[in-house]
Amino acid sequence: MSFRNRLRFEHQLAALVGLLCLALVGVTVGGAVWLERRSAVRLAEARLARLASGMAETLDVTLRERFREIQVVAGLAPLRERWTSDATMVRGVLSAMRTTAPDYAWLGFVALDGRVRAGTEGMLEGLAVTGKAWFEAGLSRPNVGDVHEAVLLSRLLVRSEPEPLRLVDLAAPVRDASGQVVGVLGGHLSWDWAIRARRRLLDEGLPGTDLWVLDRRGRVILGPLLGTTPFGPARLGAMVEEGSGRFAAALGSDTLLAGFASAAKGERSEIAGGDPGLGWIVVATRPEAQALAPVQRSIQALLALGATAAVIGIALAWCLGRRAAAPLRRMTAAADRIGREAEATTLPRLDGAREFVALSASLRSLLRRIGTAERELSDATIRQTRVAAFYRRQIEDLRQVAGTDLLTGLLNRRGFARPAEEAFAQARSGCGVAVLVADIDHFKRVNDQHGHDAGDAVIRHVGALLAEAVRGSDTVARFGGEEFVVLLVGPGGTEALLTAERLCAAVRAAEIAHGGRAIPVTISIGVATVSARDADIQAAIARADAALYEAKARGRDRVSAAAEIEEVERAA
Ligand code: GH3
Ligand code: MG
Ligand code: MG
Repeated sequence: MSFRNRLRFEHQLAALVGLLCLALVGVTVGGAVWLERRSAVRLAEARLARLASGMAETLDVTLRERFREIQVVAGLAPLRERWTSDATMVRGVLSAMRTTAPDYAWLGFVALDGRVRAGTEGMLEGLAVTGKAWFEAGLSRPNVGDVHEAVLLSRLLVRSEPEPLRLVDLAAPVRDASGQVVGVLGGHLSWDWAIRARRRLLDEGLPGTDLWVLDRRGRVILGPLLGTTPFGPARLGAMVEEGSGRFAAALGSDTLLAGFASAAKGERSEIAGGDPGLGWIVVATRPEAQALAPVQRSIQALLALGATAAVIGIALAWCLGRRAAAPLRRMTAAADRIGREAEATTLPRLDGAREFVALSASLRSLLRRIGTAERELSDATIRQTRVAAFYRRQIEDLRQVAGTDLLTGLLNRRGFARPAEEAFAQARSGCGVAVLVADIDHFKRVNDQHGHDAGDAVIRHVGALLAEAVRGSDTVARFGGEEFVVLLVGPGGTEALLTAERLCAAVRAAEIAHGGRAIPVTISIGVATVSARDADIQAAIARADAALYEAKARGRDRVSAAAEIEEVERAA
């Protein structure tokens, strides 16, 4: 029996529905999880991209404004004649600039000889800046330099930020009325404005979010791990190429979702005609795990919901299976009782599904047909038994008739065979058995004088006399004509002779009459005992027959013993 065959119907159904539910829940939850994840990742990346471009915009706006300012102030007509001659006034103008744009750490005018003529709050005045990139480039065109750490000013300025002071240098040539370059207007924009802008944006953002600003070579100029290059050249190249966008990248053991936007591009920030700009890239990141945390919760809720649905499904299927199998169980129990309990003879009528109704109808009809067949079989068996008994009786009767002499009702030669055989077996085991052969004397004369019917009557009479005179255990048979054979079981030779004498005397004394006339009858008898040496009973009968012949010869109406009896008697 296979495993499936051992399971009950309701269990099989419950298992099937359970598996189905689980598969359904698996597919649904899997699909929902995939969709949720995808949309959560997309949403997070979009937010990050927005954040990055917001940061880039802030950087761009400030840089653009400051750069324009420097150029405008450097070209102001009323100042043209006074840059080199009136340091106090220049200092005043620069201080006013710094008041409107407090992001400046320092503003100063440098004469052609490379010495600072005027600085905000008199800082760095008299100092030579020859060789500084901003100054050298500023002699010929307006320019912006990349962020760098401050050397001189960090000692002079009081700041609120814990990090070392970093600066972005801006410079523009200053010309006199004739258009001759007389010096350079320089400004050191404190990087703290970028730090503050980053902090402001991060404060508004979601937890885990980070903001980085990378320079052209991918080094971090703002954000954690300052000076490192967190992204490889391929990623960097792609970001430069695309300008803005989103991506996911493995960083350490985390997967980061990221949005990026380029900042301080030449054309966008209008920094110097044809200048490629500073080429910064703003990257906003957030660990994927953190972005997906809300999804995890909804996944758990979905799983719980799915498991509940599966359990309910299994329970329902089990109940359904039980209900569906109940009629079959009733049928099985009823079928089991048939043949064991006397009153259980039929199957119940089922209801419920059409198949059950049909099944019960078919089985009930089958039972009826079996019952009919059984009754017919039992009737036939009874009939057969009766016929057999009848024939047995008939055969018995025939056998009886075949072994019976019709005239006297005694055994005939055929009927005599069985008792003779039994007696011979007894003689063999030591029991005394004697055979008498009797013959009516001068019977021919009876026939002649009284007729054949009278002869028959005499034969019947003598037969009856002989049968009456012996014991029940002895056998009398008519061997044909007027000759009888008597089988005596039990007596020895002498006793057999005495019995023979008694038979002779009985016939002699009997008054046999026919047709109103008395018919005197005598018989002669030859006696022989059955010996263990005899081959069969016939041998003894032959000896008795010989003795009968002798009795006839000696004058009839007498008994004659066969030779061995006389020997026995003589020996006695
Ligand atoms: P014994 O035996 O004394 O020598 O003389 P018996 O006259 O009896 O001799 P036997 O045996 O020659 O005669 C027998 C006769 O019995 C011959 C036959 O016609 C007659 N018989 C044989 N069977 C029957 C029978 O069934 N009915 C009648 N009525 N007569 C029979
Ligand atoms: Mg005779
Ligand atoms: Mg005879």
